Amino acid sequence: MANPTDLTLAQLRDALKAKELTSLEATDAYLACIENAGDLNAFITVTADKARASAKASDAKLAKGEGGPLEGVSLGIKDLFCTEETLTTAGSHILDGFHPKYESTVTSQLWRDGAVCLGKLNLDEFAMGSSNETSYYGPVVNPWRANGSDAKLTPGGSSGGSSASVAAKLCAAATATDTGGSIRQPASLTGTVGVKPTYGRVSRWGIVAFASSLDQAGPLTRDVRDAAVMLKSMAGHDEKDSTSVNRPVPDYEASLGQSVKGLRIGVPKEYRIDGMPAEIETLWQSGIEWMKDAGCEIVDISLPMTKYALPVYYIVAPAEASSNLARYDGVKFGHRAKDYTDILSMYENTRAEGFGDEVKRRILIGTYVLSAGYYDAYYLRAQKVRKRIFDEFTDAFGKVDLILTPSAPSAAFELGAKMNDPVQMYLNDVFTVTANLAGLPGASVPAGLDKDGLPLGLQLLAKPFDEETMFKGMYALEQAAGFDAKPDEWWG
Ligand code: GLN
Repeated sequence: MANPTDLTLAQLRDALKAKELTSLEATDAYLACIENAGDLNAFITVTADKARASAKASDAKLAKGEGGPLEGVSLGIKDLFCTEETLTTAGSHILDGFHPKYESTVTSQLWRDGAVCLGKLNLDEFAMGSSNETSYYGPVVNPWRANGSDAKLTPGGSSGGSSASVAAKLCAAATATDTGGSIRQPASLTGTVGVKPTYGRVSRWGIVAFASSLDQAGPLTRDVRDAAVMLKSMAGHDEKDSTSVNRPVPDYEASLGQSVKGLRIGVPKEYRIDGMPAEIETLWQSGIEWMKDAGCEIVDISLPMTKYALPVYYIVAPAEASSNLARYDGVKFGHRAKDYTDILSMYENTRAEGFGDEVKRRILIGTYVLSAGYYDAYYLRAQKVRKRIFDEFTDAFGKVDLILTPSAPSAAFELGAKMNDPVQMYLNDVFTVTANLAGLPGASVPAGLDKDGLPLGLQLLAKPFDEETMFKGMYALEQAAGFDAKPDEWWG
């Protein structure tokens, strides 16, 4: 019997159903790997006792030939999803001691389908960041290292705990969220698959809000099939989220392996940016060739508004964040400052102590762009440009079925390299924020290694609610790329 942690989620699911192993064996194997991987700092909370108890419950069901589509499969949960009675931190000091009284819709659906929770994964504070370095719980370390180097690299962000734990086989798959790229960029930097569904496909209820009009949850997994299986359980209409859409959730796994012949693949010239490593350009060309060889038609397209996407994002996202984060005031939950003289100084001191620098920067920017004298010049104008970005994609999708681009402008970089230069850090999201602004589904598939042996991903974007075509394309890319590199296990 193979080591259970070497199985993909779909393989583990099938092996459990075939009674080749038990969920308790798999769960114990994962817990041992997590214990051994302290160097990666991927978990904030490990829920070992709960995991074993639910693995045993799953085994009882599996023994009777019962159980849901994820019965007994062990998952990691980004610590932005509220989990009932289990510490939920959002990577922030201000949520110290927060044990929610409720379960997020996404996680409740995963448990409904039989999954086992291994624990809560590290992330950038309130999901603000691209390197997992803004977490109050310290950076996550990428299991990948450059050839011949032991420098610590970022696993990307904000879902760095999710990407690192999937790449290091500390869980069968993980949940993540993507407001500007936080599923796709970490997937690209760790050789994993990440899917950001269409806005409205997955309920946001019970996920700590960052920028509500952009936030969307999705899976981070070892391969495309696992992402399809995970999304099926995560997606669906939820009355508790008024922006979740009431449409049937397709069987995404059924899309895999379907022919992509005749699909029109758009290649936007504006995604060729200055200073991008030549290898990323080359990989993109390979991706184009792979899709052509699979029978797709390649269409050159132009998305001229792309250059405004980052500036628009860095107005809209902080504006919404400044409003969403107003609730953290030390009154009802989380951290409260010890020293204060009246209610105002209690708020001020609590927020000064509880939030980290990046979160404060976003609150300051967001409050500024929403303030009376500047609202029209910044926020309103950004919303208008956002609409034009959406219109441009709508036009493009009149001509093409999918859009193919690189996922991120670089491979994993060293921890510390960009922390003193926020603009450099924000540039990580140059290829991903457009999908959030337009509400489109997007995915990153590992496609190759750079000269230092580090993974690089390619991104596919699809029409709203056409994740099925995206999965077809992702599977074709995965088959053609044949990416099977793994990080050397240096940790532990
Ligand atoms: N890196 C982007 C930011 O810092 C996106 C984060 C995200 O998608 N959660 O805002």
